[in-house]
Amino acid sequence: MAVLNLPGVLVYLILRPPRTLEEEYQRTLEEEALLQALEDLPLCPGCERRVKEDWQICPNCHTKLKKTCHNCSKLMELPWNICPYCGTPAPGMRLEATSLDDALKGIKVTEEPEGSNN
Ligand SMILES: [Zn+2]
Ligand SMILES: [Zn+2]
Repeated sequence: MAVLNLPGVLVYLILRPPRTLEEEYQRTLEEEALLQALEDLPLCPGCERRVKEDWQICPNCHTKLKKTCHNCSKLMELPWNICPYCGTPAPGMRLEATSLDDALKGIKVTEEPEGSNN
């Protein structure tokens, strides 16, 4: 067995830099830990790079990743429409559109000529 494997071992030692078993083991552990940590991180929906869970903006493509509660300033997922920490409803797209519509209506009303009655 040992004699048969010897040429293979020699080739291995020549091609690869010598490393102790302990170093090899440590390296494997580190790589596995790193891989697991990477897998836990969420991906940016814009550029698919790994981002941290508490990031609000992707530093690579500036995609908005999270929003903050306007009441308690805690981080919220973008689809959430209510803050899980304090229960404050988040201002959504529809609410903004409605308020914008109301604002436009208000502008139209105030644009009525006032001087004619005087
Ligand atoms: Zn991105
Ligand atoms: Zn809140």
